[in-house]
Amino acid sequence: MGKKNRRKLRVAFRKNRQKRARRQNLTRELLDNLDVAEDELTEERISGKGEVTRHRTIVATTGSDDVVRRVVDESNCLRGRVLSFTGLNCLVQADDDRKYECTVRRVVRTMSRDYRSAVVTGDRVLFRPTGNENQGVVERIEPRSTVLSRRSQGLEHILVANVDQALIVTSADEPPLKPALIDRFLISSEKGGVPSIICINKVDLVDPVELQPLAGVYAILGYTVILTSTVDHTGIDRLRRLLSGHETVLGGQSGVGKSSLLNSVQPGLGLATSEVSDWTGKGRHTTRCATLLPLDGGGWAADTPGLRQFGLWDVIREEVEGFFIEFRPHVARCRFPSCGHTHEHGCGVKSAVERGFISPLRYASYKRIVEGDSL
Ligand code: GDP
Ligand code: ZN
Repeated sequence: MGKKNRRKLRVAFRKNRQKRARRQNLTRELLDNLDVAEDELTEERISGKGEVTRHRTIVATTGSDDVVRRVVDESNCLRGRVLSFTGLNCLVQADDDRKYECTVRRVVRTMSRDYRSAVVTGDRVLFRPTGNENQGVVERIEPRSTVLSRRSQGLEHILVANVDQALIVTSADEPPLKPALIDRFLISSEKGGVPSIICINKVDLVDPVELQPLAGVYAILGYTVILTSTVDHTGIDRLRRLLSGHETVLGGQSGVGKSSLLNSVQPGLGLATSEVSDWTGKGRHTTRCATLLPLDGGGWAADTPGLRQFGLWDVIREEVEGFFIEFRPHVARCRFPSCGHTHEHGCGVKSAVERGFISPLRYASYKRIVEGDSL
């Protein structure tokens, strides 16, 4: 990265830091206290007069991708991967495999997209060990190649970053297979730019022939479909190959067998989920954040409680049809340009379903999704 690209950037502090009418939550308050302490340590200059308009000047470079990277003295920093986080801290695995509990430099939080958690699971970071046993400070978050996020109360909440594929896990039975749920997952991961693999687990509970029509629907659309069983080991070797060397996020309802599949692929991995989630001592159910698990054959698996109820958090109704790729050639034949393909007359999509060009299963889940039915 040439020096030519270097420039000074003004980063605005969040305005309501200083005066808050209401004390909304404890995490926020803790963050602010930490910020004050950090101001005295930081190497960056603080300018501005009023409390509300303070800015900080940082030196940053902008790469060809237009992403701003803060310039940091890298000589005493390490590179690592965020395995897990809570509001204030994160667990980072350095390139030498040692784990560090890190806080996040305030300016890094200020620059972040997601205020609740500047650093998210899957982030590649540059951090400075503090000298205390296995502790450090995150100095920079590298640009994210992919992001799976949801919107809550108008704010983006990133669930996991830098994964390169999603494994959508369903079960043939117990709980019963819900095709519409597969479609919801597909949309959410496609929206995040992450290609999907569809895994139908617990095939030992049914006659595999029964699954062929459904598997066929997705195979024709170009998705990899894998049938697995952790009981008779169907498909486990193939699953291991599909995960190896990749960074895979797992999604799927609770009870479909995600932890069991991880254990079958690599003994102890499913168990590791709860251990990594428990590093704060608060228990996995209170943290509910994603955890990144290293695979023996290379790559990572990200198990994310947040993705288990993978909804269409930030997909609007009009966007949904765009994710049903097989609808596209037929949409042009709808009589009304604004056709929603549900109750309208002269709908090209409905007629394609009747003529057998679109799977009735897929059309049914399209309708359930746009009509906002819960599954
Ligand atoms: P998770 O909530 O998705 O992580 O699901 P678990 O891995 O905890 O599994 C839920 C239940 O399904 C457990 O009782 C497992 O023993 C069972 N299970 C997992 N995989 C299979 C399978 O392939 N076949 C059958 N019959 N049961 C399975
Ligand atoms: Zn239509």
